[in-house]
Formats: sequence, structure tokens, C-alpha cells
Amino acid sequence: MIPYGRQNLSDADIKAVIEVLKSDFLTQGPVVPKFENAVCKYTGATYALTATSGTSALHLACMALNLSPGDWLWTTPISFVASANCGLYCGAKVDFVDIDPLTWNMSVDSLSEKLIIAEKEGRLPKVVIPVHLAGLSCHMKDIAILAERYGFHVIEDASHALGGQYDGSPVGACTYSDAVVFSFHPVKNITTGEGGMVLTNDLEIATRVKLLRTHGIIKTETTFDTLENSPWYYEQTELGFNYRMTDIQAALGCSQLGRLDYFISVRNEICQKYRQAFSSLPVKIQASPAGSVSGNHLFIIRLMLNQTKQSHAQIYSALKEQGINVNLHYIPIYRHPFYRKMGFEFSDFPEAEAYYSEAITLPVFYDFDNETQDYVIQTLSGMLL
Ligand SMILES: *Cc1c(COP(=O)(O)O)cnc(C)c1O
Repeated sequence: MIPYGRQNLSDADIKAVIEVLKSDFLTQGPVVPKFENAVCKYTGATYALTATSGTSALHLACMALNLSPGDWLWTTPISFVASANCGLYCGAKVDFVDIDPLTWNMSVDSLSEKLIIAEKEGRLPKVVIPVHLAGLSCHMKDIAILAERYGFHVIEDASHALGGQYDGSPVGACTYSDAVVFSFHPVKNITTGEGGMVLTNDLEIATRVKLLRTHGIIKTETTFDTLENSPWYYEQTELGFNYRMTDIQAALGCSQLGRLDYFISVRNEICQKYRQAFSSLPVKIQASPAGSVSGNHLFIIRLMLNQTKQSHAQIYSALKEQGINVNLHYIPIYRHPFYRKMGFEFSDFPEAEAYYSEAITLPVFYDFDNETQDYVIQTLSGMLL
């Protein structure tokens, strides 16, 4: 099977991990802050805090913004469930904003319309999570203007977008948001095995994320609530978690980050070749607005089903039968049984529904060679023409 995504590990990556295994610290040693500093330098963010996964990083960011029972979190339905689950972990309620028909990201127009109604009904969101689908940044400037007008916080779910750019700056710079989250799962642009990160330019958010990822325990005297000055003293001030990345993982992350720009250039070539090959086929591809450089985490096509002989499911299954492990990113989150119970009407999200009826993710990964890509292109072309 040709996978849709796959990590690439070099000898240098493996050596970096082995060095940590031979050192004094397996977790919380010197390599975690080294990785955090390297990502700050790459993105331009002031603070970066590692976590055990993209999911725990989203949870930490929501907690740091005090998302609580009674609050609303809004996100896009075309994402991995973690973008919504993080709100439920905090006891908040979740709602969705329909997608843009061209970028397939959260639609700023739909967001704007939904905010007008929510303001009248007194249920404005506390946190909005735009997701940079396939690596293409959302329209962050416009979202930041709405955030200012309606007083909500913004967390960018940039799990797909490390290495991409928005408005001339790296994704992760936090210029238009309170925080940005990355995932380092093996299919993502760089990996630490499992792993994630919260970036922010806000000292208060950074301090809270740091506290909450390690049980809410503080060890520095100057910040103690109680004035107990016994030598063994430390205190837990709120309910946190163990969401700490290990030095083993951070070593892999540092080493992979050194190759990120190269990974991105390879992804760009692969996606560019798909775009050219598909320009005369009945498929739509993601718009690429001026000023944005996609991290090209995924290459998604939408079938123009009025011009194809076979159905969406038939083409999808036929590709699998030909050894191409296509995927569908994503089933709209409100369609999952767990979310259905909350009473969402599919018809409230016509663009997400249309997307879901047409989308297929094709393979993009570092070791995807020319011949294998030609095979994928020819196989798909044969099914569509
Ligand atoms: C991968 C992913 C996550 C979760 O990341 P994990 O590291 O797997 O927990 C969240 N959101 C999106 C959009 C993702 O693709």
C-alpha cells in the first residue's frame, strides 16, 4: 500500500535520540527547552511550550484561556475531532462554523454572520479555533478583527501548517491569535513520535500552560500561595495534567526541525506536480490566496461528480484496490455519533456537506518518489476520464 503520509528519519535523527538515551535525563532535561527555543526562532513566537500531543496542546491552550463550563468554543467541522474535543474537556459547549467553498478553511463570512446572531442571543464564543486545513493558513487578519470586535480568544490549530507562511510570516508567529498549536504526530510535517506544542506571545498564557502541563504544581518559592518555608515544600495550586514531552522526543524534534525547510520544498514539488497533472481533470483543488504559502501537509482533491462516471465512494474504493491508501480529511465532526447526540443539523453546514461528498486525500510524503507519484496520477486519471 502506498501510504497517504509517512515520516522520514535520518541517521542524524536516530543519533540524536540515542544521545539522550545515554544521558542523565530522559524527560525534562536540557533538550526540551532547546527544542522549544528552536521553534521560537523558526516561527518568531516569543514562547513555545511542548506537550505530549497536538491534542494535549489544544487542551492546555483552552485551559490557559480559562475556557470553562457555560462557555462556547467554535471551530470548523472539517477537522480532526481534537479541534472540538478540547473544548469539551474544559466543560465548554462546542459549535461549528461552515467552511469557505474555495479555501475549505473556516469561512470568515459565515463566522461573521454567526457572531451577529450569537451576540443577539447572548451566546458569543469565548474561544474560536480556526484550523489551517492541509497546511493553508486561515484568513487570520480578518479573524483577528472579529476577535477584537466580539471579544473572543483565538487559538490556531496549525497541526498541518508548520513550515507554511501567512502574510509574509511563518505560521506560528502568533501575530493574529492568542496561541498557535502544532502536532508532531508521524504523519505531520515533522515528528517527535507523539508530541505537540503551544506557541504564544503572551507571558500569562505561557506561564499557565507551563503550570498546567505539570499538574498545576509550582516549585519556585516566590510564587507560593502559602508561606510555608519548609525545605521540601512545593504546592499544587490548580488541577493540571502530566502533559510533558520527554527529552527523547524533543531530541528527535530538534533534529527534524533542522530539515523542515527541505521537507517543505519536497512537499511543494509533489503538490505542484499534482496540480499540473490535474489541471485538465474534473477535480477541484484548494485555492491558494496571495501571501499564503501552504505547509502542504495534505493534498486534497474534490471530485466534480457531474463529470465523472463513478461515484465518490467507487473512486475512493477503486484507488484503495489499486494499492493507493487514500484518505478523507475529514468526516465533518458533527457527523460523528458522539456529536450527533448534541443535535446538530447537517443542513446548517452546506459547504462542509458538499466538501464531504467530494473530497479525497492523495499521498504526500518525503519518500514519495517520482515513479510512484506517476502511478497515482495515472491511476486516478484513468478513473476520471
Ligand atoms: C493531528 C491533528 C491534531 C491532533 O494532534 P495529535 O498530535 O495527534 O494529538 C489536531 N488537529 C488537527 C487538525 C490535526 O491534524
